[in-house]
Amino acid sequence: MTAPDIRKEIEQLNEIMSLDNSDVVPAAVRALAIQAYRDHDDEKAAQALSAMWKLAATHAGGHEIESLDGEEFGRKVGWLSQTKKTRSDRTIEQYLAKYARDLLVTPMQDAVRAGAVRGIVKEVVREAEGTYTCDWCLERCGVWDPYDANAYGVWARHAGCDCDIHIRYVEEDE
Ligand SMILES: [Zn+2]
Ligand SMILES: [Zn+2]
Repeated sequence: MTAPDIRKEIEQLNEIMSLDNSDVVPAAVRALAIQAYRDHDDEKAAQALSAMWKLAATHAGGHEIESLDGEEFGRKVGWLSQTKKTRSDRTIEQYLAKYARDLLVTPMQDAVRAGAVRGIVKEVVREAEGTYTCDWCLERCGVWDPYDANAYGVWARHAGCDCDIHIRYVEEDE
């Protein structure tokens, strides 16, 4: 892979990793998931989650993402459709965005490593946004060497996290 290809791949991944939840989750998928929650509808829940999986897959470049089937997916369907808890639309949206992001953590780490090996990725920057940032996020905020960023889980985010994570490329300093 050429350096521009790696950079393009990272930027494509970052469209899911760093955008706001409302920009990551398509309106139709959000509406479907909210309906699944209200109707306790497993099928709609599976459709919404599958749509998020496909979205993640289209941003994964040449990287493989975790497969759709299995217990984990079943648990996610249940979280959406089979709960008696009250959930806000925002919580559901966060859940969908987090699902897509979680699928892309490993591909992002691979792409960042490839970029570091080729000498094009300089640093990974994670910045706290908003008025309150939890301790877990604060531990992951800062300017990281790309290998350290991978090792310390800098790409991991919880559902309500609004941290901004981006890459500094070597050539920007030249
Ligand atoms: Zn946090
Ligand atoms: Zn955060």
